Formats: sequence, C-alpha cells, structure tokens
Amino acid sequence: MGLKMSNVALKEIKEIIFSGRSIAVSAHTSPDGDAIGAACALAMAVNGRGGYAKVFLEKYADVFNVIPVNGIVENEMGEFKPEIYIAVDCGDMERLGGFKEAFAGSKIRINIDHHKSNTYFGDLNYVDTEASSTCEIIYKIVGDMLSSLNNADYIAGCIYSGIVFDTGGFRHTSTSSITLAAASELIKYKFDFSKIYNTIFNTRKFEEAKALGRAILNMEKLAGGEIVYSSMSQEEIKSCGTESDGLSEIINYLKGISGCKAAVFVYEKSTGVFKVSMRSEDDVDVSAVAQSFGGGGHAKAAGCTVEGSKKEILDKIIVEISKQLT
Ligand code: AMP
Ligand code: MN
Ligand code: MN
Repeated sequence: MGLKMSNVALKEIKEIIFSGRSIAVSAHTSPDGDAIGAACALAMAVNGRGGYAKVFLEKYADVFNVIPVNGIVENEMGEFKPEIYIAVDCGDMERLGGFKEAFAGSKIRINIDHHKSNTYFGDLNYVDTEASSTCEIIYKIVGDMLSSLNNADYIAGCIYSGIVFDTGGFRHTSTSSITLAAASELIKYKFDFSKIYNTIFNTRKFEEAKALGRAILNMEKLAGGEIVYSSMSQEEIKSCGTESDGLSEIINYLKGISGCKAAVFVYEKSTGVFKVSMRSEDDVDVSAVAQSFGGGGHAKAAGCTVEGSKKEILDKIIVEISKQLT
C-alpha cells in the first residue's frame, strides 16, 4: 500500500477544497510538468465550480508552456491571503521555495503529493507513493465532476500533461492500470496530447543539445558499468550557451546506458552549489541517498542540492550508491 496512516480520506480533502473558501495552490520550486499540471488542474476545477482559487508558481522552463493552463499561473502573491493553501507535488515545506512563508502562515494547509520522501507537513495530508504522479491523485479528486465543468478541456489537458511527464510517457514502473484508465478518460477531452508529448520529451534548445553532448563526453563508469555518472561545471555549462535549468533531461541519457543500474549527474547551479540528479532501477533506492544529503524524491528518481567541490560531492554520492550494489 502506498498510503500512510496519517493521511486523511480523499473525501475529506475534496469537501474542504470545494467548500467555497478562497484557495492558493503552489508546487515545488523549479516546477515540472506534474507540478504545473496538478496545481492548475486543481485550481481550475475549483473555479469551474464557482469557487475562488489562484495558482502561484515560480517561473518554469519554456517547454512547459505547452501545458494548457489557460493563463491561470501567477508568479507573485501580492496581497492575496487565502483561507486554504494547498501544496501539490511537493515533498516538504522547504521545496515551496518563495511560497513557503505564505503557506506556513495560512489557516488551513493541505499537502497533496506522491513523493516517498514526503514529510507530512500539512494540517491535512494526502500522500500516495503508489500514484504515478500528483496529477493522478488530482484526477481522483476531480475526475467525476469533469464532464459538468465548462473548462474541462483545460483541466483534462493539465492532468494528462502531468501524468505523461512523471511517467516519462507511460514508460516508468510507476505506470499502473489506474494511470492508464485515467489517461483513457482524459483523452476524450479536447487538448493536443501529441503536441504535449513531443514538446516535453522531444524538443530542446540548440544550446541544451550542446550541453547534453558535453555531459555525454564527460561520462564515466564504475562498478563494471553499473554506475554511470557525469558532471558539468558552471564554466562548461556557460560555454554551451545555456543555464543550469536547461539540463534536466541529461540524467535520463546516462540512465539509458546499457548495464547501468544507477546514474548520477552533478551540475553546478551557482558557484560551489551543485544539483545532484539520480536515476536507478531494481533495488537501488536513490531517494534514500538523496535524503541523506538533505534532498528527496522517489526510489528510482531523486535529487538533492549540495554545497562543496564537484569531486568531493560525486565521491560521497557514489560511496552511498555503491553500498546498495551488492
Ligand atoms: P530531478 O533529478 O531534479 O528530476 O528530480 C527527481 C526527483 O527528485 C523529483 O521527484 C524531485 O521532486 C526530487 N528532488 C530533486 N531535487 C530535490 C531536492 N533538492 N529536494 C527534494 N527533492 C528533490
Ligand atoms: Mn515534480
Ligand atoms: Mn510528481
């Protein structure tokens, strides 16, 4: 079972969300497809039923502009003081970034998520680590009312985008019959599912492709190829003409090397501050490794941000991963 004892019933969450109180919804810093899709779909469903919900997210990567958010996303809260604050796709309060204080200061705080590392930081929590995505949970909340909402096409497109993103296009082992049943219902609505997939997974900026090339050139292997890792310094990233937020797909290429059981990509976000991305398979739990460095994630996809020297960080991470490879 993916549910923990401290979860409230989804019915209770649903009642309070649709009770007419004003709502803010935010997600994790550097929002991805699931974070954006879940936040927007939930808020749009509330508004579609005559409620009042706003979405606050940090600026996100251009590829995610394909998600049909219908202009609902704002970057600043201004004077808005919601009665309810909902965090989606966010494992701990810290990951809310600039919205953390507003969340912490709200009367009713709700945490809806699927990360294994979730800290149950809400007053009401619903964490399902078996769900492929937070969007799959949002579908459980709003799926039965979709057909009665006049903004259903947008909501369906947002939920579908998040599911597609977090499952890597229905490829990851987190994909279940529940995931596919939701997708099967969602695709009945009007949104460009083909464009969503191709934009998110098959397009990159020229400079990002160059950075991918550099990361592949920097690749090393250990433990007979079971660990594949690479890294990029700020200088190297800049020499490709891109920024550190354009590097998120690189880790998947490293994991794609045959025989690789754990992939690590370490890149410098600002001087001396490194983002570590990890992917694994079988019994290697990279979430545990990430958590020991103050980060989090899922068993097979996790990350953390660490200060220090690149070599030192890589060495420490690899020692931790090696302990799990027997
Ligand atoms: P990434 O490697 O950035 O694609 O992240 C993989 C997974 O780990 C995602 O589910 C993230 O939410 C989670 N994650 C990444 N970085 C962190 C971090 N610094 N703290 C907590 N969770 C993280
Ligand atoms: Mn996410
Ligand atoms: Mn997610």
